[in-house]
Amino acid sequence: MEKGNKTIRNLLGFIDRSPTPFHAVQEMTGTLSDKGFNELKETDAWNLVPNGRYFLTRNDSSLIAFVVGSKPCEKFKIIGAHTDSPNLRLKPNAGYAKNGYLQLGVEVYGGVLLSTWTDRDLSLAGRVILAGKKKPISKLIRFEQTLLRIPQLAIHLNRDVNKKGLILNAQNHLPPIFSVQKKSAADEILKKMISRELKCRPADIIGLELSLYDTQPGTIAGPEGEFVFSGRLDNLASCHSAMQALTESTTKDPATRVIAFYDHEEVGSETAQGAGSPFLKDVLERISLDEGRESFLRALAKSFFISADMAHAVHPNYADKHDTEHMPLINAGPVIKSNAGQRYATDAVSSAWFESLCRKAKIPVQKFVVRSDLGCGSTIGPITAANLGIRTVDVGNPMLSMHSIREMAGAKDHLPLIKAFKEYFIA
Ligand code: ZN
Repeated sequence: MEKGNKTIRNLLGFIDRSPTPFHAVQEMTGTLSDKGFNELKETDAWNLVPNGRYFLTRNDSSLIAFVVGSKPCEKFKIIGAHTDSPNLRLKPNAGYAKNGYLQLGVEVYGGVLLSTWTDRDLSLAGRVILAGKKKPISKLIRFEQTLLRIPQLAIHLNRDVNKKGLILNAQNHLPPIFSVQKKSAADEILKKMISRELKCRPADIIGLELSLYDTQPGTIAGPEGEFVFSGRLDNLASCHSAMQALTESTTKDPATRVIAFYDHEEVGSETAQGAGSPFLKDVLERISLDEGRESFLRALAKSFFISADMAHAVHPNYADKHDTEHMPLINAGPVIKSNAGQRYATDAVSSAWFESLCRKAKIPVQKFVVRSDLGCGSTIGPITAANLGIRTVDVGNPMLSMHSIREMAGAKDHLPLIKAFKEYFIA
């Protein structure tokens, strides 16, 4: 199997095993442990050594891993991304009976392309809190079997749908069908299923954070395998690229190399484990403690942050949604994103720096700026730049169907981005 294909299969396996940020972090901490990274706890004292490899998590949904430089406080080379993706989440008292069916109430998490969640084979995954003997225990859960569906109304009962578009009211039209009405209530059935899965008593279940996910695995597609179709490419593909680069970075670089993957980007990042939190700053400061505060601040001033998040490729059927001079193509290399309103943190200096990195790695690079008459999306780039005062570039691989339940990207874009990140961590 050619290397690109092997890497893509590895990426798709990672995404399939990561229906929620909790699962993504569990997957990545497993890989980091296998690659010789040691787990740290924020509550413990740290004894870091030069060239040591470490990782830690917050809320089991955000992750920071780093390789201490041969001069720990020289500077930091950081890549940031996010672990969360838009989806539908169960409400606390989710189950109810209606018109002969059992249904589950859901909330919308992030900017979901709602119509794509209809008529799909859905299931549930997330974390469950169990009453332990001394203190509550958190367990991850993922139902493999398809459990849920949000059926569309037949066209015969919605004659205008192809002209007017599918209008979905989040409260009325999104709750999936779970079962037909039975003697037991929906919540009771769900708790029994969870207790069977986790081998506990239903009464032990005291907390639930469950999301819906698509049970269809990701796939390589196109006549030459040039595409990937999968959920959560935004932004697990970027996490995967940065992880590969860090775990394979073995040089005795004086700089400390860091990856920071945050939960809650899709809902604004202002949480205890989001990019708006002091998580990364706290970790960088602790890496530098022995050297004193001035050395830490000097190191920050020399540091660099790559904010890695997927970019908007031009859609052939809607090309007028792009500025004609900024139309990133799939399989044509990573995209540098900029915005005068600073929705992306890129400036001429950071853009030129990333471009020269790509030149060294011998990969092409593209540029994106949103049409001047359209609003611009954002990333963790500006938030982290403002928090740390570090020069930042916003980059990412081009994709289509962003925030759909099943997104589309280029199979030939993934390896080049890993190459660029490796160049960064090795240089
Ligand atoms: Zn994203």
